[in-house]
Order: sequence, then C-alpha cells, then structure tokens
Amino acid sequence: MYCPNCGSELNEKMNFCPYCGQAVQKTATTIPAVTTGEYRLVLVSS
Ligand SMILES: [Zn+2]
Repeated sequence: MYCPNCGSELNEKMNFCPYCGQAVQKTATTIPAVTTGEYRLVLVSS
C-alpha cells in the first residue's frame, strides 16, 4: 500500500506514514478508480 499523502510505500501493518505522519486506513482502498481504469487499458493494449 502507499501513503495517500506523500506516496511512500508503506507496510500494511502500519497505521500511519512514518515519512509524513499521515494516518492510513488499512481497510480503505488506496487505488483510485481512475488508476484502475488506466491499469486495465495497459493490460488490453499489451
Ligand atoms: Zn506519507
């Protein structure tokens, strides 16, 4: 998972980002719908 504030890669067991202090919700999906769409487009084009 990645910090929604600074984008640093985080351990899923972390409750907050050690780099910027942003609280992270483990149950929340950190990947926006737009990013998922782009990922699907890559799969289709390749
Ligand atoms: Zn952060």
